[in-house]
Amino acid sequence: MASELEPEVQAIDRSLLECSAEEIAGKWLQATDLTREVYQHLAHYVPKIYCRGPNPFPQKEDMLAQHVLLGPMEWYLCGEDPAFGFPKLEQANKPSHLCGRVFKVGEPTYSCRDCAVDPTCVLCMECFLGSIHRDHRYRMTTSGGGGFCDCGDTEAWKEGPYCQKHELNTSEIEEEEDPLVHLSEDVIARTYNIFAITFRYAVEILTWEKESELPADLEMVEKSDTYYCMLFNDEVHTYEQVIYTLQKAVNCTQKEAIGFATTVDRDGRRSVRYGDFQYCEQAKSVIVRNTSRQTKPLKVQVMHSSIVAHQNFGLKLLSWLGSIIGYSDGLRRILCQVGLQEGPDGENSSLVDRLMLSDSKLWKGARSVYHQLFMSSLLMDLKYKKLFAVRFAKNYERLQSDYVTDDHDREFSVADLSVQIFTVPSLARMLITEENLMSIIIKTFMDHLRHRDAQGRFQFERYTALQAFKFRRVQSLILDLKYVLISKPTEWSDELRQKFLEGFDAFLELLKCMQGMDPITRQVGQHIEMEPEWEAAFTLQMKLTHVISMMQDWCASDEKVLIEAYKKCLAVLMQCHGGYTDGEQPITLSICGHSVETIRYCVSQEKVSIHLPVSRLLAGLHVLLSKSEVAYKFPELLPLSELSPPMLIEHPLRCLVLCAQVHAGMWRRNGFSLVNQIYYYHNVKCRREMFDKDVVMLQTGVSMMDPNHFLMIMLSRFELYQIFSTPDYGKRFSSEITHKDVVQQNNTLIEEMLYLIIMLVGERFSPGVGQVNATDEIKREIIHQLSIKPMAHSELVKSLPEDENKETGMESVIEAVAHFKKPGLTGRGMYELKPECAKEFNLYFYHFSRAEQSKAEEAQRKLKRQNREDTALPPPVLPPFCPLFASLVNILQSDVMLCIMGTILQWAVEHNGYAWSESMLQRVLHLIGMALQEEKQHLENVTEEHVVTFTFTQKISKPGEAPKNSPSILAMLETLQNAPYLEVHKDMIRWILKTFNAVKKMRESSPTSPVAETEGTIMEESSRDKDKAERKRKAEIARLRREKIMAQMSEMQRHFIDENKELFQQTLELDASTSAVLDHSPVASDMTLTALGPAQTQVPEQRQFVTCILCQEEQEVKVESRAMVLAAFVQRSTVLSKNRSKFIQDPEKYDPLFMHPDLSCGTHTSSCGHIMHAHCWQRYFDSVQAKEQRRQQRLRLHTSYDVENGEFLCPLCECLSNTVIPLLLPPRNIFNKLNFSDQPNLTQWIRTISQQIKALQFLRKEESTPNNASTKNSENVDELQLPEGFRPDFRPKIPYSESIKEMLTTFGTATYKVGLKVHPNEEDPRVPIMCWGSCAYTIQSIERILSDEDKPLFGPLPCRLDDCLRSLTRFAAAHWTVASVSVVQGHFCKLFASLVPNDSHEELPCILDIDMFHLLVGLVLAFPALQCQDFSGISLGTGDLHIFHLVTMAHIIQILLTSCTEENGMDQENPPCEEESAVLALYKTLHQYTGSALKEIPSGWHLWRSVRAGIMPFLKCSALFFHYLNGVPSPPDIQVPGTSHFEHLCSYLSLPNNLICLFQENSEIMNSLIESWCRNSEVKRYLEGERDAIRYPRESNKLINLPEDYSSLINQASNFSCPKSGGDKSRAPTLCLVCGSLLCSQSYCCQTELEGEDVGACTAHTYSCGSGVGIFLRVRECQVLFLAGKTKGCFYSPPYLDDYGETDQGLRRGNPLHLCKERFKKIQKLWHQHSVTEEIGHAQEANQTLVGIDWQHL
Ligand SMILES: [Zn+2]
Ligand SMILES: [Zn+2]
Ligand SMILES: [Zn+2]
Ligand SMILES: [Zn+2]
Ligand SMILES: [Zn+2]
Ligand SMILES: [Zn+2]
Ligand SMILES: [Zn+2]
Repeated sequence: MASELEPEVQAIDRSLLECSAEEIAGKWLQATDLTREVYQHLAHYVPKIYCRGPNPFPQKEDMLAQHVLLGPMEWYLCGEDPAFGFPKLEQANKPSHLCGRVFKVGEPTYSCRDCAVDPTCVLCMECFLGSIHRDHRYRMTTSGGGGFCDCGDTEAWKEGPYCQKHELNTSEIEEEEDPLVHLSEDVIARTYNIFAITFRYAVEILTWEKESELPADLEMVEKSDTYYCMLFNDEVHTYEQVIYTLQKAVNCTQKEAIGFATTVDRDGRRSVRYGDFQYCEQAKSVIVRNTSRQTKPLKVQVMHSSIVAHQNFGLKLLSWLGSIIGYSDGLRRILCQVGLQEGPDGENSSLVDRLMLSDSKLWKGARSVYHQLFMSSLLMDLKYKKLFAVRFAKNYERLQSDYVTDDHDREFSVADLSVQIFTVPSLARMLITEENLMSIIIKTFMDHLRHRDAQGRFQFERYTALQAFKFRRVQSLILDLKYVLISKPTEWSDELRQKFLEGFDAFLELLKCMQGMDPITRQVGQHIEMEPEWEAAFTLQMKLTHVISMMQDWCASDEKVLIEAYKKCLAVLMQCHGGYTDGEQPITLSICGHSVETIRYCVSQEKVSIHLPVSRLLAGLHVLLSKSEVAYKFPELLPLSELSPPMLIEHPLRCLVLCAQVHAGMWRRNGFSLVNQIYYYHNVKCRREMFDKDVVMLQTGVSMMDPNHFLMIMLSRFELYQIFSTPDYGKRFSSEITHKDVVQQNNTLIEEMLYLIIMLVGERFSPGVGQVNATDEIKREIIHQLSIKPMAHSELVKSLPEDENKETGMESVIEAVAHFKKPGLTGRGMYELKPECAKEFNLYFYHFSRAEQSKAEEAQRKLKRQNREDTALPPPVLPPFCPLFASLVNILQSDVMLCIMGTILQWAVEHNGYAWSESMLQRVLHLIGMALQEEKQHLENVTEEHVVTFTFTQKISKPGEAPKNSPSILAMLETLQNAPYLEVHKDMIRWILKTFNAVKKMRESSPTSPVAETEGTIMEESSRDKDKAERKRKAEIARLRREKIMAQMSEMQRHFIDENKELFQQTLELDASTSAVLDHSPVASDMTLTALGPAQTQVPEQRQFVTCILCQEEQEVKVESRAMVLAAFVQRSTVLSKNRSKFIQDPEKYDPLFMHPDLSCGTHTSSCGHIMHAHCWQRYFDSVQAKEQRRQQRLRLHTSYDVENGEFLCPLCECLSNTVIPLLLPPRNIFNKLNFSDQPNLTQWIRTISQQIKALQFLRKEESTPNNASTKNSENVDELQLPEGFRPDFRPKIPYSESIKEMLTTFGTATYKVGLKVHPNEEDPRVPIMCWGSCAYTIQSIERILSDEDKPLFGPLPCRLDDCLRSLTRFAAAHWTVASVSVVQGHFCKLFASLVPNDSHEELPCILDIDMFHLLVGLVLAFPALQCQDFSGISLGTGDLHIFHLVTMAHIIQILLTSCTEENGMDQENPPCEEESAVLALYKTLHQYTGSALKEIPSGWHLWRSVRAGIMPFLKCSALFFHYLNGVPSPPDIQVPGTSHFEHLCSYLSLPNNLICLFQENSEIMNSLIESWCRNSEVKRYLEGERDAIRYPRESNKLINLPEDYSSLINQASNFSCPKSGGDKSRAPTLCLVCGSLLCSQSYCCQTELEGEDVGACTAHTYSCGSGVGIFLRVRECQVLFLAGKTKGCFYSPPYLDDYGETDQGLRRGNPLHLCKERFKKIQKLWHQHSVTEEIGHAQEANQTLVGIDWQHL
């Protein structure tokens, strides 16, 4: 179909291109009916440009639209060529002071915590960097898209509203100047015309609802009937559903379906089929049918193509308008006028109104286009912003209702613009006074929550899914209310008062519907059947918390408002509970001669509710009255007389009793919903407007009534009245065989009640309750949090309540109460409580949970013990109450209180007779302590004329009156002091008695002391004092002795830990200083050690005994014994790669024999160093395998290791492993024959070897020639002149036991399988190559790590590394014994031929393309296969030495050929040394052989320096290699850090210090070899600059450089768009830390197929960049991601820390983040050490949820 259309489309193009914008505009200027002209033009051309086929061509359409449609409009507007017209407009324009930049998704935004009026005020990065706020406390977030920069908005910032760029020019006065004055009349008129027409056109067509009919004035004469089947976005169906449905409905591939789905998700709609009506209709019905099963079907419309065309152009027009008004404020003003002008239909007929009101009917793409236009026009113009705000407020109810039923997220709704309008303080206030916005919002909200119970309260029980959905949406209205209230008025007008109070009324109505909602009744007998719905009510409460607080703040700012609000609130509360006594029997309670009337009510039997927002609001207002002193100034204005304290306290008290009963286990059968509610009631998110206010309300009540009455009511509500009112009730109670549970229950209730009294008296840190300020309050919170344990900043923030600006106020006080301890390499920075603050610790702090309380108690007692203090935790000294609450303290000395205390003490004294608890006693002691502190305070602050009425000390000294005749409280305390069963409380009792005496002394010296005490008691006490003092002295001595012993013991413990630190540390860390026991052999330090060659230092054979970690049996490592193996992990690696674009294309055909010097893909082996018997390991592995298979069948779960791939965890340390390496003795010693004295020199040796090779090749050819009978074959052998002593048919005997041989094959095959990613095949000739390669690569990577860290080559290596290298080298050396001799010989011949040319090998790499160390390892390890057949007397050692020398020389030539010729300007100081002239001579030879292509180098000094530097890594690797191969100990010099050790290395490796001597000594053969190397065409090409080559030394690879400031990374990522879906912003931009690529992760658009599976961009990238292993930074999340293969991954903590030493994974807190270099180095080290996979393994073992993540989709 598309191809048929093609020619037609082109024809149209021509006619379109011939249009002249200027001519059309000219015609328009003449027109009498401009609207008609323009509409005709559009009617004719739009369908010719847009929607010409099944797929849009955006570029072509845009080009044509600009030319034919927009061009004429621009000409018309300017009256001239817009290329001149627009710049003129721009020049005349006064630049705006508003930035207004609209944020892209993911763009960083900044808010200043010091200056932003509210947290919604944000800056773009550019403005932020140019503002004063960059030095303030700021917060950084990533934008979700939408919203704009507030730079320049003076209402948004308390200070510094402008950045440098938008700074006011001081000469200009920013006035409400009409921007139109800068425009000429003509331009104004024309702009007005064209804007009016185009804007109306766009609005009309976008809101057009007919599917196949155009508006009359756009209807065309000739109309082609093509249609689109248009699929719309919804938030109900998933991507997968849509993709699946589309494949079925329109018969497309999965890829196309994904494309459609992606566009639908992004733009809100996409045509999925193009053609005639029937054709489209058919697709529609399939889609609808397929998606209607579960929910409502996907929205699909069959639309006429010309409608779609006009709509597309309508959108284009809106964007065009947005960009045109950017030229001039004047144009913008005109557009605003046009938009807001009322149409002919009156109310709501302006274009802006029409758009807003059809918002929910528009698709996503259309919405976001016009929202952006609103933001850049209406919201940028100060005058029209107001007018628009009014329109918005007038339509508010409709818009919100539309939004509630719309299924798009709020960010796509016009309702979301509320944040831009309501947060502007002047607008908010205007809308409140003029549009009554507060009431509107609240009423709209209430309208949407219609579900009520019989009492008119909200009811969420039996909520339908739809209602729940609606409820979620309606919550955004609360957010709007918050925005309106966010800035408190500084001045009140009468209108504002009136409207605010009207709003307050509405708010009270709302709270009234919540007062008492979700009531519960205690379940007895049976457990509840269904957990009742409770979350909705709490969500509501939680969302309203800040609003309630803000309402109070508003009230507090004006006395008149406060008084009125108080009255209103009280009135509503009385409506709610006025009749609380109705129908209840009044009862009378009496204790100690006091009596009170109350009702009979039991929390445990009747309905009770946690939701009491009206009571709590009243409590809040009451505190404000107290604080502002209104109550004392205008008591006549207050309804204080109407207050009924028993009514006030009733419901809060019930709620607190409910908590106590739940705690006492009385509500167990009510299930978890109740437990959760109680939890949230106390939780930091809710408590401020729940629990805290209930305590305040009780405090209010007590301060207004007789405390005795209060206590009796309280006892009654706690259902404890009987116990305390009846003398000896307790005794009877326990002696009866009461149910144990009931005793326990009552004890808990008593404890809870005492706790509540402690809180009522002690909690006076809210300003208004006590004489404190807000800082004191927050300080106290922090002190108590830190009393539990030291905390990180974020932890502390989480435990503190946040205000509506998300501030806790912590920063202002933290310095005063805590020390900051910086974090180390891991962990976080911590705040520790300053010791001097410990005295403010209150054990019964009301915000402690039970667990926190006991932790804090323990911590504080421990601290005291450490300081050698007594362990009493007495109540702290408290600030005085505010006058309104002052009488509250009398509760402590009230008769009922004393009775309660006395009773409990009595129980404790007669401890066996009663059911009592230590907690109970502890609380009583605390209360007594509080009373004593109180009295002390009173006495200290007493003034002459006042009498201290607080006489607690006197009251507790009095014994009980007849008939009880109980001893005084004081006497009982003294008795208890010596009670052996109260050891823990002794210090506290002692403290009480001490304080009692102090207070008594103060009182005696005080002039106002009333003389009430009787002689007798004084006498009694003085004698008692003496007694007491003596006892005390003895106790003190005993205590000191005890403490001394304790101190000694802990000292000893500390020593033990210090000395055995290593034991307590991770032994696996590479940098752990503990090392392998250095070489076992005792070597004299003055001996020269030689690692190889005939002169190799002979080491006495060491016997090695090892223990199997599985069976614990010890065994010696021997050739013929059972194999011992190390757990090992083989992986492919690109860590050393110098060319990441290279990877193995076809592993089946890949030839790994020569490693390229770019080291692009190596095989790395590591081990945890744990040793097992081979058979023990095999048994273990089989059982793991069997277990996993069962588990997978059952659970279909992944594990952290892939058994099918041979993976397992080390049975000891759980380190990820995939094979085992056998432990071997130095294999050379086994095959080394006698040492002959007469050994050939290099030249002779090369000749001999070449002959042997020739012979072998001849034989090989014979064998492979077909049709050769074996007889003939042997004839030929005879023909062949075999070199002397060479016996190619000889097969050496392999000394290894079967078990060792098996393990040699096992590890070899594993290396081959993993290294090449092929199926295991032990016969493959590449197996030995892979083994040698892994050995070489692993040594190279360790050499790199050591060099990078400046560690000595043979310094202390961790055991696991040492063991791994030794076993790996020895294994690689022994592997040939299980391979085919001829295969290994073949490899040797080929390797050898790369240096010593040979006719039969032609296609060998040139020496520039060979990694010499790999070559060396290959040659040395393959050599025995040849040497074993040589009986001419050449020893293995001689061969090693010559091979080594030969390769070293080749490497020197390599270095010289590639050496950098840069002169670094440093001149040599000394005359040339021997090496320098030698190297210069060699260079000259090279120069000659290369035909002078090599650059001249004047200085031998430079050359020698570069040779030395270039060859060092090779020498170091060789030293490691021969050390482990031959077991010669390392010279002590190389064991310590220091400079290069060049000479030591040379001597250890049997090399002359002047390496060039090697060439001179062997010039005979070397000259011809060098010549042959240089002749290679590749070398020529390189020298002529046609290709590149690796230079030496190779630099170590590093992870990419990260910026210091994290936000620049975010910014970089926000500019990154998905490479596959044309300019779309990527949702999860992810940075590869290895190569710096940015990827579009975790998204359908960038999935690719890898080995037959769809994988995300990251996984795909790891395969090319890191051969399966990847290290990424997820930029939006600030999270490091490790990936290995398709199934493994973990998150790792990012190297960015905030100022508090914490990471911010997920960027939730938004504190500025800075690079922590040490942590980044640690990640780099993990990478260098090849430990990423191991790290993932450990993380997944530790956290099983990581296993379930679909890592391959990232
Ligand atoms: Zn800005
Ligand atoms: Zn700015
Ligand atoms: Zn600031
Ligand atoms: Zn064993
Ligand atoms: Zn292990
Ligand atoms: Zn990469
Ligand atoms: Zn993408």
